[in-house]
Amino acid sequence: MHEFSVAESLVEQIGEIVAENGLAEVDRVELEVGELRQVVPEILQLAFRETARDTPAEAAELVLKEVEARAECRRCRRTFRPDPWDYSCPACDVADAKVLAGDGLVLKSVVASESSGVAVV
Ligand SMILES: [Zn+2]
Repeated sequence: MHEFSVAESLVEQIGEIVAENGLAEVDRVELEVGELRQVVPEILQLAFRETARDTPAEAAELVLKEVEARAECRRCRRTFRPDPWDYSCPACDVADAKVLAGDGLVLKSVVASESSGVAVV
């Protein structure tokens, strides 16, 4: 289950931010999830709870924002929404597309209780 490896790197990243900024408890974490990553939100939430145990992110709320996938066909330059398993262009039916959005996992913000607010990354 790759949600667990996602959760692990997320907790690791949060740990670094916490250390760099001298934060204590983390209240809230916002993560942008590209739909092409095929992350199941419920499983990622569970994985995060497990992984964050005994870390500064233990009590943090994980907010997931899904990012819709966009791809551009290299032949006809049409942009479309690809399926994770099929990047074929709807116009020319050739799978030769460049992904423009929706394939990333981006930590958007970490909100900690006693700092002055938000450390946006
Ligand atoms: Zn095309």
